[in-house]
Amino acid sequence: MDVTHSIELNLRRIRERIARACDAAGRSPDEVQLMLATKTVPAERVAVAVRLGARLIGENRVQELAEKDSVLRELDCERHFIGRLQTNKVNQVLRYVTCVQSLDRLDLADRLQRRSETTDGTVDVLLQVNTSAEESKGGVTPDAALSFARDVSKRDRLRIRGLMTIGHPDPTQVRTSYKSLHNVRNDIEQAGIDRVFMDTLSMGMSGDLEAAIAEGATMIRVGSAIFGLRTG
Ligand SMILES: *Cc1c(COP(=O)(O)O)cnc(C)c1O
Repeated sequence: MDVTHSIELNLRRIRERIARACDAAGRSPDEVQLMLATKTVPAERVAVAVRLGARLIGENRVQELAEKDSVLRELDCERHFIGRLQTNKVNQVLRYVTCVQSLDRLDLADRLQRRSETTDGTVDVLLQVNTSAEESKGGVTPDAALSFARDVSKRDRLRIRGLMTIGHPDPTQVRTSYKSLHNVRNDIEQAGIDRVFMDTLSMGMSGDLEAAIAEGATMIRVGSAIFGLRTG
């Protein structure tokens, strides 16, 4: 099967899974955006998916954003950063993305603020929350998220659009981790902080998107179910 055909088929399968999960949760499929997680996927393959209707691309590494830029910037898609971001890569990453989904510390918020002042722009961010208590994962703890949102909101060039998490790797615990992100979202929303919007809950991947949609995901990030297993 050629590459275009398999990506097309996989996209269709994912959209069917989204539709079924939304149906089961009593939600509309319009409430759930599909982001393609494209780490290690060559730009030409990403381009195929965009031509087939994908509109949101998530990349984990600044180096890969730079390498794929000449192809991707010509396409009708929006790019977000979803990986661990070093402060010294901030100026570079903002050339490519409109949203950083992995904001998890104040020194990074400060760098994003300063860069946006320099360019007289704004940047959308999601606050990354660690809902699995696994140390290898980035993100603030659920308990710290509200005060983190207050602190980040003082940086007036950042627009907090919501929250992001990477689910628990144990399938029996993943839904609980997504539920806790939803609870954090409600707490932050109720606090009514200036310049803080909670319209985006970015959670759910190839293996667990149903659990995420059941717990209120508005954006799921899918990689291997579209492009196949990563070798690198
Ligand atoms: C790779 C990745 C995904 C997608 O994972 P798959 O299991 O391939 O669907 C989602 N989010 C982040 C942050 C990732 O790094």
